[in-house]
Amino acid sequence: MSTALTTLLEDERLFRDSVAEFADREIRPHVRRMDEEAKIPHELIDRLFELGVMGIEVPDAFGGGGGTFFHAVLAVEAISRVDPSIGVLVDVQNTLVINALLRWADEDLARTYLTRLASGTVGAYALSEAGSGSDAFALATQAVESSDGFVLNGRKLWITNASEAEIFIVFANLKPEAGYHGITAFLVERGCPGFTVGRKEDKLGIRASSTCELLLEDCRVPRRNVLGEIGKGYKVAIETLNEGRIGIGAQMVGLAQGALDHTIRYTKERRQFGKAIADFQGVQFQIARAATEIEAARLMVYNAARLRESGQAFLAEAAMCKLMASEVAERVASLAVNLYGGYGFVKDYPVEKLFRDAKIGQIYEGTSNLQLQTIAKQLLG
Ligand SMILES: Cc1cc2nc3c(=O)[nH]c(=O)nc-3n(C[C@H](O)[C@H](O)[C@H](O)COP(=O)(O)OP(=O)(O)OC[C@H]3O[C@@H](n4cnc5c(N)ncnc54)[C@H](O)[C@@H]3O)c2cc1C
Repeated sequence: MSTALTTLLEDERLFRDSVAEFADREIRPHVRRMDEEAKIPHELIDRLFELGVMGIEVPDAFGGGGGTFFHAVLAVEAISRVDPSIGVLVDVQNTLVINALLRWADEDLARTYLTRLASGTVGAYALSEAGSGSDAFALATQAVESSDGFVLNGRKLWITNASEAEIFIVFANLKPEAGYHGITAFLVERGCPGFTVGRKEDKLGIRASSTCELLLEDCRVPRRNVLGEIGKGYKVAIETLNEGRIGIGAQMVGLAQGALDHTIRYTKERRQFGKAIADFQGVQFQIARAATEIEAARLMVYNAARLRESGQAFLAEAAMCKLMASEVAERVASLAVNLYGGYGFVKDYPVEKLFRDAKIGQIYEGTSNLQLQTIAKQLLG
């Protein structure tokens, strides 16, 4: 019997519902303050670990949830409906950091680091630099072999979770003369000599999510902390991001759904010309179109996630879902502001924040142009 994409297995549904309920109860009351203070309280991060959303795919044996990639996608969507900043904290932890370790760490590294990541330690993924964003393999951070490991020098920019993280996956080039074939992934601990978390960005949206510079000045990394093979870091980077961007699609679907939920509630309450504004057909059609777009984006996200999980080709579908979901999020959040009228433009109401938050979906984990490039390559060779 075939199953609809949105028909969840029993454990998926229970998990999604428990995360959604947590988000409403434990995150929602803090959203405005977190945005204003550009900070996530430690206690909330602790609660996310207790809930089990910070180590979703980590095997039971390492203290994790023993869940699936699809569970991670559901969690990111359910949380982002309430706050996309917490959504990206959870997303980076699961779909980038833990995902990379699950795929590339040897047994020793996996045991050490996955156990920590599932039990209270936040991770970050450090690829981008001031001079290399879309052209990520042009990174300038260098690694040099030493007697007991490697010495890293360079700067990373835009690193999500950097304020809270203790473990960083850092990409550096060990053999610049070999081009991208020299790129290697290293696990760097916050306490490593020569490692500093630098300036925190003051952002338009997802303000509670930390985005910082990393400074590596003769940063010493032990030999065992190479993630995957030397010179194969480009594979770690690209393959993790190919999967991770499905999570960003989920973040944007959640955001759009959150904006629509607020809008439906508000338009039923707000009265003009003697009736609720939701009674005007012009408003109803705008809401219907937004719901239709969200449904399409969600189906694309779920399909990409299911394809990835079942070992089928998913590259174009992942790029398409992120491209679509981020555009839908921007349109729906913009509609939400419009339908709130003047109240949509002020911070006392929730939709102006979601409008600001939506913009990032078209930028990180590959800009929209880079998604189009990936899709075109799949189509045209
Ligand atoms: C809030 C935030 C969080 C982030 N978190 C992380 C993180 O955790 N880890 C990490 O490593 N990075 C992170 N990033 C970095 C992010 O992935 C990059 O900003 C993004 O990949 C774009 O790179 P860039 O900013 O250098 O823009 P550029 O690459 O300079 O792009 C500028 C413009 O040129 C366009 N462009 C570039 N090349 C092409 C091309 N070939 N064809 C057509 N158009 C092109 C782009 O689409 C874009 O519109 C984060 C960024 C932000 C803002």
